[in-house]
Amino acid sequence: MRRTLSLFNTLTRKVEPVIPVQEGRISLYTCGPTVYNYAHIGNLRTFLFQDLLKRTFRTAGLQVRHCMNITDVEDKIIRDSQGALPADASNDSRHAAMKALTDRFTAIFLEDLDTLRIQKADFLPRATAYLPQMIRLIQDLEAKDLAYVREGSVYYRIAGLPQYGCLAHLDREGMQAGASVDADEYERDSVTDFVLWKSAKPGEPWWDSPWGPGRPGWHIECSAMGLELLGERLDIHSGGVDLIFPHHENEIAQSEGSLGHRWVNHWVHGEFLMVEGQKMAKSLGNFFTLHDLVAKGVDPIALRYAIQSNHYRKVLNFSFEGLRAAENSLRRIRAFRKRMEGEGQAGSGPWKETLEPLARLGQAREIFWAAMADDLNTPEALAAIFTLISDLNAQDDHVALTREEREEVLAFLDETDAIFAAWPREALSLDAEVEALIEARRVAKATRNWAEADRVRDQLKAMGIVLEDRKDGTVGWRRG
Ligand code: AMP
Ligand code: ZN
Repeated sequence: MRRTLSLFNTLTRKVEPVIPVQEGRISLYTCGPTVYNYAHIGNLRTFLFQDLLKRTFRTAGLQVRHCMNITDVEDKIIRDSQGALPADASNDSRHAAMKALTDRFTAIFLEDLDTLRIQKADFLPRATAYLPQMIRLIQDLEAKDLAYVREGSVYYRIAGLPQYGCLAHLDREGMQAGASVDADEYERDSVTDFVLWKSAKPGEPWWDSPWGPGRPGWHIECSAMGLELLGERLDIHSGGVDLIFPHHENEIAQSEGSLGHRWVNHWVHGEFLMVEGQKMAKSLGNFFTLHDLVAKGVDPIALRYAIQSNHYRKVLNFSFEGLRAAENSLRRIRAFRKRMEGEGQAGSGPWKETLEPLARLGQAREIFWAAMADDLNTPEALAAIFTLISDLNAQDDHVALTREEREEVLAFLDETDAIFAAWPREALSLDAEVEALIEARRVAKATRNWAEADRVRDQLKAMGIVLEDRKDGTVGWRRG
């Protein structure tokens, strides 16, 4: 059975059904990380929300083709990768230094995705592999008089596109005709022509182009990769709310300016993760990475649940209490799964409100899907699961559910776990727990916290897990 899901569309500011361009197949583009440092859990909130979105569509019976780019050339990457090089360093060594930094943090990012059970995109293109496509797109905009050259850089002429401002709902009167910015990131109050191609500055890596040596602006990267890999009509494009302006507005300008028609049907944005009322951000220094939390003994799946159990369009405050509450909720669902996997006890006879377990299950499934279909309302969807758990636990105490009923309930837990990825069958959850402990031990050793490393080793031993330190530095394990 295929279900129709609705999502809030930033373009129209309404919750609208997602009707894919090709029946049964969703194309999804999400702006990926800028790989100059560890992702913080604010960034990861956005990727967790997109994973929920993708898994919900898949579980609802649709195919999803997903592209997430890796931004591996950009202002901050250049700032952080070039410092150690001499002023007269060659272009090749500048590129190599940039690549060393971005390779390192791309690998760490992909590990973070695994740790959080975020399914990898079908396409994970690195921006630097798409220079020819970016150059061709800029040339096309020039040919359409939507771009102009100034001192070796190329700028987008926003006055040339009637729909400029449609996504961020900008007041066109307030735009500054003719003014331009070179920075990749700027505020809403400086709506100006933006840079597509930046002429090379001393100390920066560059590529050859029809406009001389230079490098792409950030916004053109996503338009070029999205058009190349997912085609001319996208069902969904997504990012955090900070990307609405200027990044996504500028992506629309570039792609629609070139195509001459609508590019994306649904624009979907996730709200921020905050810390004490402020956005979690590297620039504010108020962030945690996943590694920080794992080193503190946090189960990454509890973080996944803590984030996904809140609605993606509500600001979420990060707290350790929130993580503990998530751990408790997971314990309750997992204990219920275990109970359903086992056989019921004889019970104490008919209960005052004896219910029909399968009818009750059908009701829970209906409420769950109605909530998910309504703009991914996870709090309501999860509430349906918890109500089912308390009703069936009470029922099972009195009149044990039959094996068939138990299997039906387990099938529903599998179905919902295909989305939340937090209450898998027992064998899987043991694996995840062991992996998390091994990672905690690795981090403890790397930070020379020997007492913690020993404590984790003993805990694993108590669980009957034997560790094997491999030659390549990784750690394997088996049940002893
Ligand atoms: P970046 O690596 O900076 O390009 O950001 C990757 C993603 O994280 C983007 O979609 C941002 O919108 C998102 N993001 C950045 N900070 C936060 C935050 N505090 N909460 C949620 N998402 C964020
Ligand atoms: Zn983007």
